[in-house]
Amino acid sequence: MNKKKRRIKKKKLAVFLLALIIIFLVILFNQSGKNFDNEVSFDGASEDYKCPDCNIILITIDALRPDHLGCYGYERNTSPNIDRLAKEGVYFSNCSATSSSTAYSSVGLLTGKYLMISGSDEAGGILDKRFLTLGEYLKEFGYFNAAFLNNAHYALSTGFERGFDIHKNYIGDAAQTTDEVIGFLNNYSNTDPFFIWVHYIDPHAPYLAPEEFFRVFKEDNLWKRNDKKLKVNPRKDVDPYLSEGYIPKIAFHKDKYYFNYYVARYDGEILYTDFHIGRLLKELPGDTIIILTADHGESLGEHNVYCDHGENIYDEVLSIPLIIKDSKYFKGGKKIPEVVSSIDIVPTILSIINPIWYFSNENKFDGKDIKGIMRDKDIKREYIYSYFPEAWSIREVNKNIKYILHQNGKEELYFLPDEHNNLIEDDSLEISSIRDKMRDNLRNWLKNYPIRSDINPEKESLDELTKENLRSLGYLQ
Ligand SMILES: [Zn+2]
Repeated sequence: MNKKKRRIKKKKLAVFLLALIIIFLVILFNQSGKNFDNEVSFDGASEDYKCPDCNIILITIDALRPDHLGCYGYERNTSPNIDRLAKEGVYFSNCSATSSSTAYSSVGLLTGKYLMISGSDEAGGILDKRFLTLGEYLKEFGYFNAAFLNNAHYALSTGFERGFDIHKNYIGDAAQTTDEVIGFLNNYSNTDPFFIWVHYIDPHAPYLAPEEFFRVFKEDNLWKRNDKKLKVNPRKDVDPYLSEGYIPKIAFHKDKYYFNYYVARYDGEILYTDFHIGRLLKELPGDTIIILTADHGESLGEHNVYCDHGENIYDEVLSIPLIIKDSKYFKGGKKIPEVVSSIDIVPTILSIINPIWYFSNENKFDGKDIKGIMRDKDIKREYIYSYFPEAWSIREVNKNIKYILHQNGKEELYFLPDEHNNLIEDDSLEISSIRDKMRDNLRNWLKNYPIRSDINPEKESLDELTKENLRSLGYLQ
C-alpha cells in the first residue's frame, strides 16, 4: 500500500469514527430528551396561547372505582351529579391508572409520563424536580393555579405542590373541601384563566361518611346478596399492604364483620362526595374544562383483598373513571371504549389549550392526546403499562390481554376482564406466542421505564403533620 492510499484509508477511518461519535451523541441527547424536561422550551408559549377562556378543573377522587358509579352501570344510585357530568361530557370505560396507590399513580397523572417517585409510597415519596407537572406547564401558559387537596402524599415538599400559587392540603372531608373551592371561585377576580386541582379523600378507607349517606343503601337488594364474614387483620400495627385475606384494621368498624356492610359504607362515601361535587359543578364558569378521575381503584374482595389498594396491580385497583367535559371535543354523553391511561390527561389538556406548543412538544410525553379519539382518529397505541414496587404489567389494547411480571419472576397472563384464569402455563401455539411477545415487550420497556429518579427521597424532610396524616391513612407507622 502506498503512502497516499494509506492516508486516504486513515482519513476514511477518521470520518467513520467521527460519524460514530456523532451518532452516539445524538442517541445520548435523544435519550435524555426523552427522560428529562430540562430542555422543554416555552419561548413564545404565552403568545401561542389559543384558549383564552379555558379555565380548567381537575377533580381527583381517591380510591374511586368506576363500576361503583351510576354512569358506568352500577345498580346503586351513588352518583347522580357525576352521572350528569358524564352525560354532558364523555366518559371513558377503559381507563387505567399507572399504579395502584396514590403517590405512585399520581406522578404519572400529573406529568404525563411513566414516572416513579423517589422513596416509597408508604413513607411519602418525592416527585423529582426534573419533571414538569401540569401546574408548572400551565403556569408557563399564564394560568393562576390553585390546589385543594386531601392526601398526605401531596404535602408541601413532596413535589406535588410545584406550579401552584395556592396549595392547601388536609382541608377535611368533601363538604369542607368543596366550601374551600367555592370560596376561591367566589373571590377570584384575576383576569388570568385558572387551573384548580381538587382531590377528595372520602372513598379512601376508613369509610366514614355521615350516616344519612350510608342509610340509603342499608338493607337494599345488594346488601342482601352474597354476603361474607370477614376476618380482621390481627396485626397490631397498621399496615394496609398486608391485608390479603383480611380487612385491614384501618378500615374495620367496631363489631362489623360482614362484607356487604363495608361495600354500602364505601358507596355512602361516593354518594357523599358526589353530593358535594354537585355543589361545586354549579359554581364553575361555563367555559371550564372539567376532568374527573381517580388516583386508583379499590379492592373489594376480588383477589382476596378487602377495602384496600396498593397490594397488587389487578384491574380492580387500576381501573379508574375518566370523564372529560369541554365545549369543543368532549361533549354529548358518549361512552368511549378505547383503552386509555391516566398519563393521557396532561397531554390532552395541553393540546387543547395550546395546540401549537403541544405539536412541537408531544414527544416529551409517554401519554397521548386522546381528543383525536372523538374524531375517530387512531391514536396509534398498542400497549399501556402499570407498575408498583413488586410487579409490572403490560396490556395489549386491541385484544385486551394483560401480562404481569413479578419481581420474583412469577408471571401471569389474562384475557381481560377475567383476571383469575392465569393462562401463563398454556403452551398452545396461540397463547405461547402472545406470552413471548408481551414478555419481550415488557422487558424491553423496563430498560428505560418506569423512569426512575436518583434524587435523595429526604424522607426526614416531611413535616410532622404530613407524617401524622400518612399514619392516619395507614402508611407510616
Ligand atoms: Zn389514593
